[in-house]
Amino acid sequence: MDLRQEINRLKKEKNALILAHNYQIPEIQEIADCCGDSLELSRRAESADCAVIVFCGVRFMAESAKILAPQKIVLLPAADAGCPMADMISAADLLALKKQHPGAMAVTYVNSGAEVKAVTDICCTSANAVKIVQKIDAPEIIFSPDRNLAAWCARFTDKKIIPWKGFCIVHEKIRAEDIIQAKKNHPEALFIAHPECRADVVDLADRVESTSGMLRFIKSSPVEKFIIGTEEGIITRLRQDSPGKSFFYPGTAPVCANMKKTRLEDVYNALEKMQHEIILPPQIILQARASLDRMLEFSA
Ligand code: 13P
Ligand code: SF4
Repeated sequence: MDLRQEINRLKKEKNALILAHNYQIPEIQEIADCCGDSLELSRRAESADCAVIVFCGVRFMAESAKILAPQKIVLLPAADAGCPMADMISAADLLALKKQHPGAMAVTYVNSGAEVKAVTDICCTSANAVKIVQKIDAPEIIFSPDRNLAAWCARFTDKKIIPWKGFCIVHEKIRAEDIIQAKKNHPEALFIAHPECRADVVDLADRVESTSGMLRFIKSSPVEKFIIGTEEGIITRLRQDSPGKSFFYPGTAPVCANMKKTRLEDVYNALEKMQHEIILPPQIILQARASLDRMLEFSA
């Protein structure tokens, strides 16, 4: 059986759209209707004219799609693809923090569970976090769950940022000493970092961007060589969008095991059996939707 052909057939039959995050394996990016960062995929999920969304990514992303498009069936082909950072905060944790800081606004990175989004004032992604923190009209901001994205945003505002202690286990593996070595090996290269990297790594960056922000920046730059400070899957689109340019990883290329769980077989099975549907309580959808809507409004 030709899986690609079968997926295409099922896609038409079920009126489905396949969304894939920039870290997905090449075969998945190839069959996807749209590849992107968290913000782009959320926008696409909301505006898509389809009955079914097959989300090739991790659970919080598929949940965001369901929250933004509750009338659509959202499938997560690799049902156990989670994000460890998203599991580092619960709704109870955030509520307790809000109680301690009653005057603060709660900004929550989309890498979080639906229940956490439901008790949040406004969500953000790596692409719009700085803009949202700057726009918010409150002297104090609770920023969760990523301590590194919180620290990155704090560089651009006088507001008091109260960070949660979560982090990305993949991006925190990127070490400053490896960047220094990579810069020595490739002195003409620019270092582009994701804001989930540690502060000492971000300090060494020539540019800090979301995954799609990196793709755009590198494509439009006259520079030919880049040291990449994010998960290795981005290389697929970097090579497509910027052929002829050279990319280097500091140390060993970081891999997000959860982002690599989705295979063509999983996409086929999800569509064929309509399995691994994201189901969320209507009340959670309603409350979380308000936080995601505010984000889309603020970042427009
Ligand atoms: P982007 O929104 O920048 O694609 O990041 C999502 C993510 O999980 C990075 O680890
Ligand atoms: Fe979560 Fe990090 Fe994987 Fe992104 S790279 S999905 S933040 S574990």
